[in-house]
Amino acid sequence: MGRQFHFSLITFAVNFYLLMKKYNFYSGPSILPKEVFEQSSKAVLELDNIGLSLIEISHRSKEFMDILEEAKSLVKELLGIGDEYQVLFLQGGASMQFCMIPFNLLGEGETAAYLETGVWSKKAIKEAKMFGNVDIVASSADKNFSHIPKQYTIPSTAKYFHITTNNTIYGSQLQKMPESPVPMIGDMSSDIFSRRFDASKFDMIYAGAQKNMGPSGVTLVVLKESLLGKVKRQIPTMLDYNTHIKNGSLFNTPCTFAIYVSMLTMRWLKSKGGVAAIEKINEEKAQKLYAEIDRNSLFEGVVAKEDRSRMNITWVAKKPESEEAFAKFAKDNGCIGIKGHRSAGGFRASLYNAMPVEGVNKLIEVMQEFEKKNG
Ligand SMILES: *Cc1c(COP(=O)(O)O)cnc(C)c1O
Repeated sequence: MGRQFHFSLITFAVNFYLLMKKYNFYSGPSILPKEVFEQSSKAVLELDNIGLSLIEISHRSKEFMDILEEAKSLVKELLGIGDEYQVLFLQGGASMQFCMIPFNLLGEGETAAYLETGVWSKKAIKEAKMFGNVDIVASSADKNFSHIPKQYTIPSTAKYFHITTNNTIYGSQLQKMPESPVPMIGDMSSDIFSRRFDASKFDMIYAGAQKNMGPSGVTLVVLKESLLGKVKRQIPTMLDYNTHIKNGSLFNTPCTFAIYVSMLTMRWLKSKGGVAAIEKINEEKAQKLYAEIDRNSLFEGVVAKEDRSRMNITWVAKKPESEEAFAKFAKDNGCIGIKGHRSAGGFRASLYNAMPVEGVNKLIEVMQEFEKKNG
């Protein structure tokens, strides 16, 4: 027996592992590379042999300052930007930026331009209206945000133009960044570091880390200082970008853990060949899954083909009554987190940088099996 028994045991173990392996399609907080989990859990016990845990050291210690510096320089490298931009790590999520932006940049009686492409841009618009006038240059709200409007004019008198580059909930994405006659601001929470783009077109980019950059608790803000100092109102210290620029993101205690894990994730991305390399893989993953959605007789996509997101892939069941059944079937087969957002329904698979091609293959397999059983 010996050997044969051994082999069948190994085969059994491998099959069992593959069967039980879970793939994380949650939209955020979301998947991160396994290597990052390993390194960060080690650092929680002890950071780089310093005898202390990462989460107990001062944010002003040399060790943490080095981490912060490396994080900043990785952001610049991965975005392809230089010292004309400030890199900040703030708290309050991307949602806090919805209010900090107009607080700092939009004076009373002045106008800001917004492109309305989903729930997140709607929320950004709501906050801006508290500070000045909002010109919604175009909106796809009447079509349930199923496409990206392309014909619009940005008034040259606007203080800035705000876009959401990827609509996490509806699964649409700006394939081409617009040309703006005024400073352009991008909410890139769910597609930062996922594809190449010309960052110099933007005066400001921001992103909650928990989609494609790290864990929740920190928000990346990249901005040109030339944007600031133009409104007359008083700005509370913590909400003033200048405070955080002057203090190098250390005015108050930053989220040290989230910054560290984000830094490790950026290091990981760099080691994989950076944004250009991951873009190719992201493209391949998304095309594969969309091809299955279009082929499968039980499902259909909801977003205009030319505006489909490569990060958050959305679709619905042609027969709404099979929605629950597929959600359960996918979960039972190791595909976790594919239920669509409560305001959009249907399904959503988030294919962030850390999702391996195998995860997409698995989901496709599960969709095909479901079709065989229910088609
Ligand atoms: C998740 C998300 C937000 C909100 O982020 P928080 O960090 O939870 O405030 C804003 N914009 C986009 C595009 C998002 O995906």
